[in-house]
Amino acid sequence: MNDFMMSGLTDPGRIREQNEDNIAMMAEAGLAVVADGMGGHQAGEVASRLAVDAIQRHILEALANAREDSQSVLEVAAVRDAIQQANHAIYELASRQPEYAGMGSTVVVTLFYGDKLCVAHVGDSRLYRFRDTILEQITEDHSVIQELISRGLVTAEEARQSVSKNLVTRALGIDPDVEIDISEQDVYDDDVYLLCSDGLNDVLADGDLEMMLTEHGRNLETTARHMVDTANARGGPDNISVVLVRARRGFTRNLEVLQKLRAQV
Ligand code: CA
Repeated sequence: MNDFMMSGLTDPGRIREQNEDNIAMMAEAGLAVVADGMGGHQAGEVASRLAVDAIQRHILEALANAREDSQSVLEVAAVRDAIQQANHAIYELASRQPEYAGMGSTVVVTLFYGDKLCVAHVGDSRLYRFRDTILEQITEDHSVIQELISRGLVTAEEARQSVSKNLVTRALGIDPDVEIDISEQDVYDDDVYLLCSDGLNDVLADGDLEMMLTEHGRNLETTARHMVDTANARGGPDNISVVLVRARRGFTRNLEVLQKLRAQV
């Protein structure tokens, strides 16, 4: 038993009729995904669903076919390929069907193996790490506002208040190829990882999230619920997705379980 836990939820928020976010959690595979779709008339929902499904399917396929664990090269390649496949799937459908023209999706993916984690993202869905009571943002948004922050033209707090904060500079499905940020991180026992869509971090500052993890972090389900409820209490202007992962070093996968999971997606 790996003692590896995940909990999360996705919520439409208070203003939007549709939920264009999609999430996936597969604790047995060490895999979590958050995708935030864009495009009118339900196309955003289609794009983020395609993204999550393609990524799960391709990663499970790669892991189930691998004979050994913790290869690192294998996992990073699997995540990268899966995101490229997701990009391709969205791009193809958007090119073929006029009602889906221009649809896209952000994505953040975490895959845990051994003492490591591979994180990849496109767009402004984020990964945070909570370690020793400190919350740290691991991914850097691909957004117009992040570029302004990087150039020192606005502060992070000003960015959170900005009306143009949701303009992304990269997304899945827009071009035949997509540039992916991907890295490996060392995992410590009891790290908690937070994947989220911008509907969470637009209304909750990093300090709020850190406080919630400090106060309730022992119970991932309660914490995830509390984050979503608080975002809604502050207006819930956008769809809100949260996935929390409590990590352990030495995470191993069971090949039989993976093969069963693969048959389900
Ligand atoms: Ca969003």
